[in-house]
Amino acid sequence: MSVIIPQEDSAQEHDQDQKTLAHSGYVAVIGRPNVGKSTLMNRILGEKIAIVSPKPQTTRLRQLGIYTQDNIQVIFVDTPGIHQPGHKLGEFMVEVALEALRDADVILFVLDLSQRPTAEDKRVAALLSQAQSGAPIVLALNKLDRLSPDKVLSSVEAYRALVPDATDWTPLSATLGNGVDDLLKRVIERLPAGPLFFPEDQLSDTAMRDIAAEIIREKVLLNTEQEIPHAVAVELEEYKERSDTLTYISANIYVERDSQKGILIGKNGAMLKKISSEARVDLEKLTDTQVYLELWVKVLKNWRQDDALLRRLGYRLSK
Ligand code: GDP
Ligand code: MG
Repeated sequence: MSVIIPQEDSAQEHDQDQKTLAHSGYVAVIGRPNVGKSTLMNRILGEKIAIVSPKPQTTRLRQLGIYTQDNIQVIFVDTPGIHQPGHKLGEFMVEVALEALRDADVILFVLDLSQRPTAEDKRVAALLSQAQSGAPIVLALNKLDRLSPDKVLSSVEAYRALVPDATDWTPLSATLGNGVDDLLKRVIERLPAGPLFFPEDQLSDTAMRDIAAEIIREKVLLNTEQEIPHAVAVELEEYKERSDTLTYISANIYVERDSQKGILIGKNGAMLKKISSEARVDLEKLTDTQVYLELWVKVLKNWRQDDALLRRLGYRLSK
């Protein structure tokens, strides 16, 4: 992937103190379900760590994907699926989203250019104004491949009207890849100058744990029926690099009812085995080691209504 590195002063190109030229920061990725946020993150990060699913709202936890290129580091925060606050978890997720927007150095608002702005897009745009973040807003106008060329301009205009505060916008296709480099360049240009937050090629431990939990959760959702998704949470219990070639991971999968536990375990444990082996494939890609994975299914009644439990399960706010 080619990235244009802002070079304020070429005389300093070989300066020992490269860190002073570095750009790094947090980018909050926002947008209604199904616009292609995860596909875009996967395309940029080149590694399957965000979640792609035909089912909306599978991305719930704040999760980090870190893009490092020379002296540039972009830390993507995948904001949770924003939906109407109904039960406690819903309200909580809106709070998490607002917090992510306020903490962000850049906001990446992903939209579906092949459609006109929907009511849900308008709600996300309203949430964005509500956050009053002050961070520059970059519009990723996705699914360009699904639009005939003569329709592009008017659709772009419709989205610019939806988000008049946007500083940049780029039509692109996350699946085909065109426009993605341009988007990344615009995002990087908006990042503040500053040292890299994390060592190159190394995700923070917390990030790895969050991502591992999210991968397991994804496999649960992809393998189970509709009543399971909103009732499942994954808690990483242990994440240990046993050696350069082996990582040990154990996790609890929490559901609300015994019947759900039964579904997840399956006949003779078949379902859990399937979930576990699919998760292991992705975890091995992520860690670049062999993974020994242990999963436990547990019933925690009403976890979605319990603030303390929500925090324990990673639905946390920093304040
Ligand atoms: P998210 O809910 O915003 O994270 O969306 P996903 O990344 O899970 O994508 C939702 C659906 O849109 C998936 O079926 C993707 O394959 C599809 N999709 C994402 N980006 C593009 C794109 O650029 N073009 C087309 N045609 N489909 C896309
Ligand atoms: Mg997603």
